[in-house]
Amino acid sequence: MDHLWAPWRSKYIMDASKGKQESCLFCRVTTEKRDQENLVVCRGKKAFVILNKYPYNPGHLMIVPYRHVPTLELLDQEEGSELIVLTSRAVKALRDIYTPDGFNVGINIGRVAGAGIEQHIHVHVVPRWNGDSNFMPVIGNTKVLPETLEETYKKLSDKSICGEEVFDR
Ligand SMILES: [Zn+2]
Repeated sequence: MDHLWAPWRSKYIMDASKGKQESCLFCRVTTEKRDQENLVVCRGKKAFVILNKYPYNPGHLMIVPYRHVPTLELLDQEEGSELIVLTSRAVKALRDIYTPDGFNVGINIGRVAGAGIEQHIHVHVVPRWNGDSNFMPVIGNTKVLPETLEETYKKLSDKSICGEEVFDR
């Protein structure tokens, strides 16, 4: 399992994890009105959907509650429900767009488990293709991805994963 989960400890996430709530990437994105720039795909009532800026695979999404809590059991029922609903819709949207062979869906709780932003819980959704590690060679630590983040963002924005919620652009 290590090789599947380790990429989530990306540099981007490590940078953002220094310090506390004030410097929390997800909290900053929550309050900013720059969803497009921040790659926020959509906002729900209790959680939002954001593209990973340094994706393990194209379409690597994260589902994030607005509230800054480090672990699953601190979410209330409404937050927990919406997290699962948005995760399911994200899987469906990615399936529709990319027809992957499978998915990794997971939550890393605590640094030892590989959590990058360990103080603010989030669900990773990573589409997988048979042999995907082969067609994305790692060259000088830079993954070669078959499409740009902007292209991915546009495709996913059209899928209304959050339903009829308000966009904050
Ligand atoms: Zn936070």
